Amino acid sequence: MLKEDGFSYCFDPQKCQSCGGKCCTGENGYIWIDEDEMSKLSRYLDLDIANFKSIFTYQVGVRFSLKEKEYNGGFACVFFNEKDLNCGIYEYRPKQCKTFPFWNYFKKNYNELEKECIGVKQL
Ligand code: SF4
Repeated sequence: MLKEDGFSYCFDPQKCQSCGGKCCTGENGYIWIDEDEMSKLSRYLDLDIANFKSIFTYQVGVRFSLKEKEYNGGFACVFFNEKDLNCGIYEYRPKQCKTFPFWNYFKKNYNELEKECIGVKQL
């Protein structure tokens, strides 16, 4: 079980194997990715950064978000692997994904998190 200071819940990453990728699918939303992350991921995908940005991201003000695709009546991250039901670029996923479910937003919205993640448990 993983714990983080300041959070009233813990998280069991083993549950990700049977979840089906709920944190990567569902309602649409931003999946923020920074320049350093885009640079590493574009190298991994063997694309130049301009191509990477135009194929996989869109700009919101000065920031970039990964695009989404239609999935199961809702949306999924463009890198969600629909066959394996997990992240297709796991080693290169952005910080936002790496830090899930320990987001400040969920400190006050645990009920929402509980619906989205079968791996969390209140302490
Ligand atoms: S980058 Fe990977 S972990 Fe992050 S939302 Fe997309 S599929 Fe999920």
